[in-house]
Amino acid sequence: MPAGDLPQVVPSHLDALWFQVTGLRCNLACHHCFVSCHPKNNTFAFLSLADVESRLEEAAALGVKEFYFTGGEPFLHPQIVPILIAALAYGPVTVLTNGTVLKADWLRQLRDAEEQGIYSLEFRVSIDGFSPESNDPIRGEGTFVRAMSGVKLLVEHNFLPIITAVRTWSDAAESHIVAEFVHALKEIGYARPRIKLLPTLQIGAEESRSCGYADHDRITAEMWAGFDSTQLVCENSRVVSDRGVHVCPILIESPDSLLGKTLAQSLRPFEVSHGACFTCYQFGSICANPSSAPATGKDR
Ligand code: SF4
Ligand code: SF4
Repeated sequence: MPAGDLPQVVPSHLDALWFQVTGLRCNLACHHCFVSCHPKNNTFAFLSLADVESRLEEAAALGVKEFYFTGGEPFLHPQIVPILIAALAYGPVTVLTNGTVLKADWLRQLRDAEEQGIYSLEFRVSIDGFSPESNDPIRGEGTFVRAMSGVKLLVEHNFLPIITAVRTWSDAAESHIVAEFVHALKEIGYARPRIKLLPTLQIGAEESRSCGYADHDRITAEMWAGFDSTQLVCENSRVVSDRGVHVCPILIESPDSLLGKTLAQSLRPFEVSHGACFTCYQFGSICANPSSAPATGKDR
């Protein structure tokens, strides 16, 4: 990159495709949500089963290996079960959920679909504290109990959900908090919980909760020199909304994130000039799944 130019990520190939399947509609309105999701957010439309099927075909032709479903809350979509089953015919699937609206009947169908196919289905459940007292002030009254019920239901259907928590605590408190998380999850029958800790992204609702990025929180040309850009989600992934194909799920609300109507059009360089890009630079591929091995308090 010539000196003075803004850092750009040039995608080498497409490994993963994300679906913003319910747009930004969520039954919750967490104070730290980096995409301003809430129950009345209709800025993006839901993707239909036909939309998803057509993108799966497009992705298969480009060699995409795995699929992620996010929102908003994916399980608000009336066709989410057939959508996930359709995706499982093309590759491993991960669905990001807040765990509060899961139903046993849906999980039975998804368990059967996974067992009958060759690809895995992973769940990531967001919980931001190991108790109602630590979780609910961020995610809403009653959400800890509801999310833990969702985790229990998943475990009862032989899924091993990845519990994701955003770091809203100090470094000094971390080992205690992880230990408490593991304890709370074991109490509901999740013997070897998998836990993924995420950095805060100071955009969306989180910008009001704490603060936004300062002007200097940007990747500079000096920082970029020698950096391995394959660490970034945008190097090998894209996300589909009803508007087209965007660079990554994190920047879905930024107008410059929309890169084209087709996946092939979207495979072009992107200037990583946002504050959130600075966080990705610091923490790497924060959207990816952790190791598939069940985690202890230290292994995540
Ligand atoms: S953080 Fe997740 S559960 Fe909370 S409002 Fe945003 S999308 Fe919904
Ligand atoms: S926010 Fe992260 S994943 Fe998105 S474009 Fe910036 S560096 Fe890439």
